[in-house]
Amino acid sequence: MVQLRADWREEYRRSPTYRGQHFLRLKVFDSPSHTSSPALQAYGGSKSTMARFCRAVLNHAPLGSYRRRFFPNEPTNCTDCGVLQDRAHVLLKCQRYRRWWNCRGEFEFLQRVSAYRDLTSFLKANESAFTFVDAPS
Ligand SMILES: [Zn+2]
Repeated sequence: MVQLRADWREEYRRSPTYRGQHFLRLKVFDSPSHTSSPALQAYGGSKSTMARFCRAVLNHAPLGSYRRRFFPNEPTNCTDCGVLQDRAHVLLKCQRYRRWWNCRGEFEFLQRVSAYRDLTSFLKANESAFTFVDAPS
């Protein structure tokens, strides 16, 4: 069991294909754990917040970037800003949402010690972020 867990963690660290090409690599998930997930501790009491957290981390959300890939005939631009609505836009730039940081990109966001805490605060302060309500129309 210990070796299996070590293999799993090594695979996560080493392989972008294994963890997902667009996985938001928050430091809190290094090393990943299936028994004491910080996400379960933070969001376990709310199905909707957990869903939005998963959508943000997995980049599998009702965003313009997702539509561009799978439904190219549907609107993809942010209704407020007029640019492609992707995860980075929502987290870092969109004028619709309140945030307390100024980062140029996701890599810079992830380098911050408070990235996980900031994502948690962001989701609580912006209850429509990463929902179908805020999808481009
Ligand atoms: Zn926007």
